[in-house]
Amino acid sequence: MQRLRTLEAIHAFTQAQRAAGRRIGFVPTMGALHEGHLSLIDIAARHADVVLASVFINPLQFGPGEDLARYPRDEAGDLDKLQSRGVAAAFLPTPEIMYPPGSQTRVRVEGLTAPLCGAARPGHFEGVTTVVLKLLMITRCDVAIFGEKDYQQLAVIRRMVMDLNLPVEICSGPIVREPDGLAMSSRNAYLSAAARAAAASLPRALGEAAAAYAAGQRDPRALEALARAALHPMARVDYLEIRDALTLDALNALDRPAILAAAVYFGQTRLLDNVPLA
Ligand code: AMP
Repeated sequence: MQRLRTLEAIHAFTQAQRAAGRRIGFVPTMGALHEGHLSLIDIAARHADVVLASVFINPLQFGPGEDLARYPRDEAGDLDKLQSRGVAAAFLPTPEIMYPPGSQTRVRVEGLTAPLCGAARPGHFEGVTTVVLKLLMITRCDVAIFGEKDYQQLAVIRRMVMDLNLPVEICSGPIVREPDGLAMSSRNAYLSAAARAAAASLPRALGEAAAAYAAGQRDPRALEALARAALHPMARVDYLEIRDALTLDALNALDRPAILAAAVYFGQTRLLDNVPLA
């Protein structure tokens, strides 16, 4: 597996792949890789001839007081995992390469970024769309894969790709979970033993709401209340809301595909999860 640390190196790699007529699949990550990330590598391999992954902790998507400084880092472990999954090259830029002095351009998707994580983390999605657009331009990939765990992020990226006519296909992968249902996340490493045990109530709570929906409950407020009530007492809800699955608009009736999306703190750790109601 090639380790690409400069723009020159990534350009040489992608140019060689394109010259050989190979379709490039790309999986952007912030590292501390787990099976959720690696499942996206497998999806990329099914949609492309050669898989490229990036590991870059994007400072632009962290707000002041968030966990940028302590975000888990394990480059050697990440490279081992990528290599053993058959990745052809890992792009490992520094913040200085991605945002050289004088850089002034930001990409902002409106509307979709207003609710949920956008409301809780001002500027977060602008950081995400800016880095993702840059990575798509740098890699000139044919297909890029994103996880459904970050449901709003996926919707925002699809919107950006449509709005800017980007010549790339976006694919998504389902949420990969721990045996007790907790969605895998690099941030799970922050959880104390007590918080880790309590965090299993999040997927359980969403699952109870989804089961009630399947049994015929169509009142979104009742489903939200049911899910909240099923959370562990340690849980502190940032948001837990049923929204239109495509527009993320608020819903007063379940008459179209919807998503129950949640961000919940266990201790200091904010975890995301979601379940479709369709
Ligand atoms: P991150 O490293 O957290 O920025 O995540 C990189 C990519 O992996 C994003 O597209 C995430 O949505 C995806 N991802 C993270 N956790 C999971 C998971 N448990 N299952 C599926 N995809 C995931």
